Amino acid sequence: MEKLLAFDFSAFLVMFVLLFTTISRRMIHGKENRIFLATLACAFLTTVFDSWSIVLDVYTDGALTMKYISHSLYLFFHSLMVVIYICYIVSLADIWHRLKQNIFHKILLPLPMIVVTVLLISNFFTHNVFYMNEEGHYTRGTLFPIIYIAGFAYAIYGIFFIWINRMVFKRSRFWALMSVFILVFAATFLQMFMPDVVIEMFATTIGLLFISMIIQKPEENIDLTTGLLNSTAYSIDVKRNFHNEKVFDIIMINVANFHSIRDIIGFDAANDLLKTVANKLTQINKTSKINSDLFYLGKGKFRLTIDDDKRERSNEIAEIINSSLQKSIDVNHISLNLVCYVCVTRCPYDVDDYEILMHFGDRFTEDTEYTGNILLARDLFSHERYDLFNKLDSIIENAITNHKFQVYYQPIYSTKEQRFNSAEALLRLKDDTYGFIPPDVFITAAEKSGAIHKIGAYVLDEVCEFIASPDFPKLNIDYIEINLSVHQCMHEDLVSQVLGTLEKHKVSPDKINLEITETATSNLHSNMLKNLTELTQAGVSFSLDDFGTGYSNMQRVASLPLKIVKLDRTFVNHEENPKLSIVLENTVKMIKDMDMEIVAEGIETEQLLTRFADMKCEYIQGYYFSKPIPKNDFIVFITKHLNANK
Ligand code: C2E
Ligand code: MG
Ligand code: MG
Repeated sequence: MEKLLAFDFSAFLVMFVLLFTTISRRMIHGKENRIFLATLACAFLTTVFDSWSIVLDVYTDGALTMKYISHSLYLFFHSLMVVIYICYIVSLADIWHRLKQNIFHKILLPLPMIVVTVLLISNFFTHNVFYMNEEGHYTRGTLFPIIYIAGFAYAIYGIFFIWINRMVFKRSRFWALMSVFILVFAATFLQMFMPDVVIEMFATTIGLLFISMIIQKPEENIDLTTGLLNSTAYSIDVKRNFHNEKVFDIIMINVANFHSIRDIIGFDAANDLLKTVANKLTQINKTSKINSDLFYLGKGKFRLTIDDDKRERSNEIAEIINSSLQKSIDVNHISLNLVCYVCVTRCPYDVDDYEILMHFGDRFTEDTEYTGNILLARDLFSHERYDLFNKLDSIIENAITNHKFQVYYQPIYSTKEQRFNSAEALLRLKDDTYGFIPPDVFITAAEKSGAIHKIGAYVLDEVCEFIASPDFPKLNIDYIEINLSVHQCMHEDLVSQVLGTLEKHKVSPDKINLEITETATSNLHSNMLKNLTELTQAGVSFSLDDFGTGYSNMQRVASLPLKIVKLDRTFVNHEENPKLSIVLENTVKMIKDMDMEIVAEGIETEQLLTRFADMKCEYIQGYYFSKPIPKNDFIVFITKHLNANK
């Protein structure tokens, strides 16, 4: 008998540790975690009453009422544990919504448990399930097999369910979930031959331990800063929802100024801020009783998923969140105001694809002006745009092979020489289905896919071919500016590629000027500096494009071999603010003092032209003179101007 107790007592200890560690590892957020916790609690109570029953049986002859209570509670929690375990499996597969609609599940699933409960209560009077014989020993009654049959029925259902949904579970999850049943069946089988060794509860405990180690891993599912579910959990959850055709809403909360706040208050305080936001959301979730799962995806992005039956309250909850986050938050005695975009997305109506959802969640703040009101994805979402985003890789590949790219030229005017002295080559892509695709969009995609190198080579070749053509010398254009992407700047073959193309077309290096962006210079990569130096030595000049859009670091600008700085049009158009005018004027002066020339980009009006000409900016580029135009139109445009000046 002591051997018996040893197994049960071990099971009790392991269950206690499991329960304790699960709570202390904060595995309490999210439906799955909560149900697993309930399974553990039930298993723990089962081991408690199991051990207690054995102690009473072994060490006492009397205490009949205690024995009845303890055995009944053991049998009750044992059966309940199997039911909750099945609920856990269902929540992992996330198909509650389907089960709820099915009458078989609705009625038949709780039935065995109801029968067990009724039998156990009536057993106090009927002694049909078990009783204490004359010597006060526990003895099974005639109806006892029903308890076994109920447990067996649940186990068969569980195995069947795991098997049917095996595609939803990863292989490791599948086997971890199965392990509980396999171990329990093996233990029951063993007990048939060795009735004295009651190890079934011990086997269950080992199975739950497996699950805890393989499935319930906080380091994989929990964000340690906020204690909320993390991006991995979010992606698993959302993918599974789409796979199961579930209807659900997501409240997306993007803290747009999170990075700038973090730069000011530091990482530790920024983490405190995130915790405060997480606590606010947890509180709202609790008080509004919507039972949503809360996620933190990093970079100031929070998500709440709302199940179908609570969806009519999504907008109301979004409003509560929005007004709560608009109040300033105190961190380390600094009062901070967050710029939070709160957006309600209805799945699958607004978005029905995981990739598109993730992309939308990252980007919806970019094109949307902050008004302080909640946003609805259906108002923001352009399906075509996201569809296009998904197909961009193949569109670009297709455009490269079928020569669909076209280089346009935008004339640049020299204020000193009063003529068009140069031009910028700008790439255009027109797709048969999607029409004109903006360069910002396809260049970003090409940088991700690596196609940017082929595109860059194409532009360079086209421009050099144009410069080498007999038309070019007639235009009196000194050089053509070519945009280089950050990726090209860092590529080890850039120098040989540029010099090789110039050589191929017998073009002199001073006929081209390469534009690099501020972003490229801020990632000062050793290859990039080497490329810049070698090409400059070979006679190619460089411009710094989009100056004024990022964190312009004058020291860095001064250290690079640059001929021209191009003032971005967003910078140029701030003239209505007198303070920014002072910044602009001093910037222009500083660049000139460093012996660099200036192109003012995005000049659309005569007023702006005069202003920049007065500031002695050497070059002007913008719609005021011309938009970027195809090569032949460019030749016509420049020729016309040359003739007019004669
Ligand atoms: P960017 O190099 O700053 O090019 C200037 C952009 O401003 C061009 O947009 C041009 O059409 C636009 N622009 C010029 N003047 C005006 C104006 O007066 N008003 C307004 N509103 N816009 C003006 P585009 O052609 O859409 O190109 C966008 C960006 O895409 C470029 O910015 C450049 O970063 C990139 N890009 C374009 N072609 C290439 C290329 O061949 N290679 C690489 N790596 N990037 C390219
Ligand atoms: Mg440019
Ligand atoms: Mg620019």
